[in-house]
Amino acid sequence: MTTPRVALLGFSIECNRFAPVAFEADFQARTLLGGDIMLNNARSAAPMMLGEMPGFVAEMDASGPWQPLPGLLAMAEPNGPVSQEFFDRMMVQWETDLRAAGPLDGVYCVLHGAGLTVNDHDPEGTLLTMVRQIVGPDVPIVATYDLHANVSDANVGLVNAYIGYRTNPHLDMRERGIEAAQTLRRLMTGTRTFLSRVRLPIVPPTVTMLTGQDAHVRPYGELIDLGQRRMREPPYESRVLNVSVMGGFAFADTPFNGLTVVVTALDQDAADRLAREIAEAGWARREQFRPMLTSLEEATARAKATEDRSLHPLIFADVADNPGGGGRGNTMWILEAFLAAGVRDGLVGVIHDPALAAEAHLRGLGTTFRAEFNRDLADPDRDLADRDPTGEFSKPFAADAIVAGLREQPVRGRRGIYANNTLDLGLCAALTVGGLTVVVISNRVQCADPIFFEMFGLDIAAARVVVVKSRGHFRGGFDEFFRHEDVVEVDAPGLTSPILSRFAWRHMPRPVLPIDDTATWIAPSTGTAAATGIAHT
Ligand SMILES: [Zn+2]
Repeated sequence: MTTPRVALLGFSIECNRFAPVAFEADFQARTLLGGDIMLNNARSAAPMMLGEMPGFVAEMDASGPWQPLPGLLAMAEPNGPVSQEFFDRMMVQWETDLRAAGPLDGVYCVLHGAGLTVNDHDPEGTLLTMVRQIVGPDVPIVATYDLHANVSDANVGLVNAYIGYRTNPHLDMRERGIEAAQTLRRLMTGTRTFLSRVRLPIVPPTVTMLTGQDAHVRPYGELIDLGQRRMREPPYESRVLNVSVMGGFAFADTPFNGLTVVVTALDQDAADRLAREIAEAGWARREQFRPMLTSLEEATARAKATEDRSLHPLIFADVADNPGGGGRGNTMWILEAFLAAGVRDGLVGVIHDPALAAEAHLRGLGTTFRAEFNRDLADPDRDLADRDPTGEFSKPFAADAIVAGLREQPVRGRRGIYANNTLDLGLCAALTVGGLTVVVISNRVQCADPIFFEMFGLDIAAARVVVVKSRGHFRGGFDEFFRHEDVVEVDAPGLTSPILSRFAWRHMPRPVLPIDDTATWIAPSTGTAAATGIAHT
């Protein structure tokens, strides 16, 4: 075979239907790169992008000759639906890149699978439809997805291999990129694949979707492990390339929400049977997908109780205001309650409040001032992207504060999902408020990495209490300080609350567990493509 020509592109964002619209600037703050600039960033030691594309490129470089044809890669922190105007412009760019690339032997798409635009439930499907139209039916397309993907027919039916993350907190982006490269190499030398998907009427709240060391009390990691084990056992060994168990992202509120098993195999029978088998195992665990949170009152009492030094320090997760799920990273419920209770020796982060961070920089290190959090959320002139559209969660709050730290240069991620990523948090400040130190940032991210405190010289090991604006990815960063049993998931109000019955769903199929107790499911019989999914041959 001549040197294979492989197009590279991507669209990765997780969209919360209830959060404000995401614009071009939200992508520019993370990754909006094309052509050789994108490719060089993927090959750099500290790329801006998450690990799939760097892993894919490294594996392709290592496994033989290839000619990369890099197109636009757009990645953003989870947010609301993407501006239709901006997505349409990106579609033009992706199409232009593909047509300019000329004849292709393969395509790699970095997708997330939980994107929305203002007018589209399935922008990944829209993108894949265009890619398939341009390259035709015979050029293999491999796509990687976050395990928070909601799986549409197009997401499965238009690709030749569907590869989803297998870790939550997400630590295997690079490995999945490597797997995508290895799979595409096989497909480009003639291997044919068959896909199947089975969806369950279960929309798992985010906190029930942990894997790895945190999975022992949760069902989701068990399903992923089961899929990995079964694909290596009879009758599936040597017939199955990938098993992806997609938990989905509830807050996208699409007509295809629901835990979905996707199998990529060398024959349709293996794909259908294994997808059904894993789905049946998921349905058997259906009662385990119910969140068990700690009330704010109890969380406050436990934080206060850490004054007893014989107790282990605790980490409190503000799971309902997780920027990693579209939360604004600025609700005050926990901060206010902990201050009122006199909680001491605590670190709180990271609060997204550009106005407050800028004021701290103006006032200078050591200054005492009245810190007004969320001061202008009621201001009608304020940038829509910062605002909680419902207005019911991101309330103003004021407290006396001392400027304890200032920073403006980007930071390099140390552990977990952001490890080795370069992150520009904008103007940042550490404020001493009562017995707590609060880190304030200007570019919204979830508090998944200890570096967000350590960049101010704050000692996490010495803290009695740490509060993080994060749902689960903090576990991959802070696990060197806190054991599983030291994590308290707090039930405060917010845009990403795991209590799904609190939201006004408009598109999600109903009934679904755990929202509706009446949900039922009957396993599809194998071989019925309409029930089990789509074969791509
Ligand atoms: Zn995810």
